[in-house]
Amino acid sequence: MKAKLAGIASNAGMSEVFRLRGADVYQVLDVEHVPGVEVPPAQCPPCHIARLRQLSQRLAACSDLAGLLEHAVWDTPARSLGGYSANVKTLHGPGFALLGNAAEFLDPVFSSGVTIAMRSASMAAGLLHRQLGGAAVDWHSEFAVPLKRGVDCFRAYVEGWYDGSFQPVIFFAKANPNIRRMICSILAGYAWDLDNPYVAEPQRRLAVLSELCATSTINEKDVV
Ligand SMILES: Cc1cc2nc3c(=O)[nH]c(=O)nc-3n(C[C@H](O)[C@H](O)[C@H](O)COP(=O)(O)OP(=O)(O)OC[C@H]3O[C@@H](n4cnc5c(N)ncnc54)[C@H](O)[C@@H]3O)c2cc1C
Repeated sequence: MKAKLAGIASNAGMSEVFRLRGADVYQVLDVEHVPGVEVPPAQCPPCHIARLRQLSQRLAACSDLAGLLEHAVWDTPARSLGGYSANVKTLHGPGFALLGNAAEFLDPVFSSGVTIAMRSASMAAGLLHRQLGGAAVDWHSEFAVPLKRGVDCFRAYVEGWYDGSFQPVIFFAKANPNIRRMICSILAGYAWDLDNPYVAEPQRRLAVLSELCATSTINEKDVV
């Protein structure tokens, strides 16, 4: 009982407020607002029970996963992610260049995060080396523009997944191996390879391909 109450207090962010004793169970009948200095609401960082409940409800709604996880043991605290994508006004300025998540974070599911972090770091390192060697470096045209090109390519596929336009392509039964290779190549991190037509015009190509896959039974080879 004592541990249960301590757990509830901790999950409600009240562990520093009340000293819970096993036998001390009170019913709150009334609350009076006392004028004076307002204490900011208690932060409730890991509401594990609420999140776990939310997670299991969502999983139960997925009929395929619910069966698979029927005997799962829920022994790991559930976490939640919210408002994780980010965008910045500029990727560089006097004395700084933004790399990886600091520059832009698209999504935690596709492997864009590590690719963009490594790519931006490697681009900036090369330019910095040149600059420190005395060469003139245009951070806009040599860093920001080419970096953004690959990020925007990734973005087209990531956003396509969340708006549902990428799924018909992924699950197209008669997938053309060449197109599949080109798209896999992007998702594997080659989002800066301009020889790949799906990199050069990601949004337009994906939109056309998605439309064809969703509505027709023709072979994709006609749309390369
Ligand atoms: C749940 C989740 C799953 C993910 N899965 C994938 C995946 O499968 N594939 C993929 O490619 N990407 C994935 N990502 C994204 C990927 O982890 C990030 O995009 C990537 O790690 C960004 O690298 P970074 O070096 O820019 O930033 P980070 O890896 O966040 O590194 C920043 C570092 O700076 C430190 N730091 C912060 N503030 C300070 C400070 N003031 N002083 C000193 N140090 C500081 C931090 O502690 C951290 O170590 C995932 C992200 C999440 C959240």
